[in-house]
Amino acid sequence: MRGNMKVDLISYTIDCDKMPGVAAFTSCSKKSAHELNQAKTKEQTDDFIKRVVAYGHHSVIEHSNFTFSIEGVSRVCSHELVRHRIASYTQQSQRYVKFDELNVVVPPKIKKNEEAKQVFDDVIEKSAEAYQTLLDMGIAPEDARFCFPNAAKTNLMITMNARALMNFFALRCCRRAQWEIHELSYKMLKLVKERAPVVFEKAGASCMQRGYCTEGSLSCGLAPTFEEIKNNTDKESKIKEYAENMMEENADF
Ligand SMILES: Cc1cc2nc3c(=O)[nH]c(=O)nc-3n(C[C@H](O)[C@H](O)[C@H](O)COP(=O)(O)OP(=O)(O)OC[C@H]3O[C@@H](n4cnc5c(N)ncnc54)[C@H](O)[C@@H]3O)c2cc1C
Repeated sequence: MRGNMKVDLISYTIDCDKMPGVAAFTSCSKKSAHELNQAKTKEQTDDFIKRVVAYGHHSVIEHSNFTFSIEGVSRVCSHELVRHRIASYTQQSQRYVKFDELNVVVPPKIKKNEEAKQVFDDVIEKSAEAYQTLLDMGIAPEDARFCFPNAAKTNLMITMNARALMNFFALRCCRRAQWEIHELSYKMLKLVKERAPVVFEKAGASCMQRGYCTEGSLSCGLAPTFEEIKNNTDKESKIKEYAENMMEENADF
C-alpha cells in the first residue's frame, strides 16, 4: 500500500449486478419490475445490461448504489472528491471533533526527499502547535482549525450510484488524475468490480471506457486519439493491452 488510506464498501444495493438489467427489461416489457425481477435469470439480465451499457443508455445503472467508508485521506483529496456532485457525502467535522494530534498525509515524493520532508515536517509541527495554543486560549475548534494544512487527514462516508461511479472512474482512474484521488479511485473500482462485475465490466479510465483518449495534448500517450482510431494505428492494441492489465498495474492500491 502506498499511503495509509483505508477504503471499505460498507453497503450496496442487493443484486446490484442484476437490478440495472431488470430496469432495462422494464423499459420494453408489459410486465412490472417486480415480475421481471422474478422471471428473468441473471444470465438474461447480464446479456441485456451489457448491450444497453454498450449503446450508452446508462440511466439503468443508476439503480445500483454503493456506500463507501473512506479513512485517512487528505483534505486535498476530499476537496477533489466532493467536486463529484452526483453523490452523497458525510465528512468528519473539524468543527465538532477536537483533535489531540494532527495526522497528515505525506505525499510520496516529499517522503522520499529528506530535505523536502524536513521542510514539510517543520510546517506541520508549527501548525499543530498553533492549533493547540489557540484551543488552550479558549478559541473554539471551528476557529482553531484555520491553522490546519491541506495535508490534514479526514474520514468520509460516500454513496454513489453506478452511473456516477463510471464517470468518477473515467476521470480519476486516468493517469492524469492527481496521485491520491487516483489511488482512491482504484481502491473503489476494485471493490465495486467484485460486487457488480457485469455493470463495471468496462469501468476504468475514460480511454478504457471509450477506447480512445480525449485529453488532447495532455494525454499520457498510451491510448490512441479518436483520429488515430479512425486511421487504425497500432495504438489500438496498446489500449486493449492496458485495459487487460490495468488492475495489475494498480495492484498496490
Ligand atoms: C485531471 C483533472 C483536473 C482537474 N482540474 C480542475 C481544475 O483545475 N479546476 C477545477 O475547478 N476543477 C478541476 N477538476 C474537477 C473537474 O472539473 C470536475 O469538477 C470533477 O471532475 C467532477 O466531474 P463531473 O462534473 O463530471 O462529476 P459530477 O459532478 O459527479 O457530475 C456527473 C455528470 O453529471 C452532469 N452534471 C452534473 N452537474 C451538472 C450541471 N450543473 N449541469 C449540467 N450537467 C451536470 C455532467 O454530465 C457530469 O459529467 C479536475 C478534474 C480532473 C479529473
